[in-house]
Amino acid sequence: MTFQKIDGKKTSAELRMTIKKQTEERLARGLSKPGLAVILVGENPASEVYVRNKCNACEEVDFYSLSKTFPYGVTEEELLNLIDELNNNSAINGILVQLPLPDHINEEKIIEAIDPLKDVDGFHPYNIGRLALRMPVLRSCTPKGIMTLLNSTGIALEGKEAVVIGASNIVGRPVSLELLMARCTVTTCHSRTVDLAAHVKRADIIIAAVGIAGFVKGEWVKPGAVVIDVGINRLDNGKLVGDVDYEAASKNASWITPVPGGVGPMTIASLLENTLQAAELQSH
Ligand code: NAD
Repeated sequence: MTFQKIDGKKTSAELRMTIKKQTEERLARGLSKPGLAVILVGENPASEVYVRNKCNACEEVDFYSLSKTFPYGVTEEELLNLIDELNNNSAINGILVQLPLPDHINEEKIIEAIDPLKDVDGFHPYNIGRLALRMPVLRSCTPKGIMTLLNSTGIALEGKEAVVIGASNIVGRPVSLELLMARCTVTTCHSRTVDLAAHVKRADIIIAAVGIAGFVKGEWVKPGAVVIDVGINRLDNGKLVGDVDYEAASKNASWITPVPGGVGPMTIASLLENTLQAAELQSH
């Protein structure tokens, strides 16, 4: 079976061009630049790269952005004070707290302190709840990016068997809700799932979000299935790989995302989309 690669880099670049154009139109209407604030706690090199990439992406599409870095020992109160300030700052339309946070900070409390209409990560219970009720406002970035990729294939999603491997709050759960909203029949698997392979083998759409290199075996992929690999795993030799055994899976898949260059580039593009959407919501 010949497979087609789902090109996240290309789709993300096209989306960013569209966002840039929509931003120009917004500015021509006399409205402000969309503004994003990114909060980082501690010195985590990976998080620092993510934050820098997010701010650079904002610059590319002519958004205003600011980043605020706190030392590891910051108190919850100091973070909550900044969020309160940003909630009331009209130049800021989106607030993002780079996760994970240190253990002494209650992540839920921090996320819930963000104004839901500025929650551009789409992690606030308000936004997850709206998605669950088929009335999404700001949608979680990675799941939203996955849906953009699935839609880019032109495949009708309605009625398809979708199997999501992983049930985290940031990927597995919200992507399951997205697929349900797209009228797929959805199975969400996790670490306690019995006979995972049997679930995956009947899937028309497989979403792998586990965080284990090569976890999904090629023989689990039904001929013609669409495979979305969310995993980002660094091997000892420095190579980045996904959760799917790409070589073996691509022998059965009709469409498959590579790692890198699949879901990864979509997450930032969705963040920009959300920030523009938040700016528009706040302009009314
Ligand atoms: P997580 O660790 O929070 O969740 C992993 C999920 O996998 C859990 O629900 C767990 O139950 C499930 N799981 C673990 N072992 C399992 C097993 N043996 N069988 C079935 N399920 C099992 O991870 P996460 O934050 O959801 O991220 C998952 C992966 O996606 C990671 O590699 C992460 O780096 C990547 N990720 C990528 C992006 C992106 O932009 N591309 C964004 C977020 C996360």
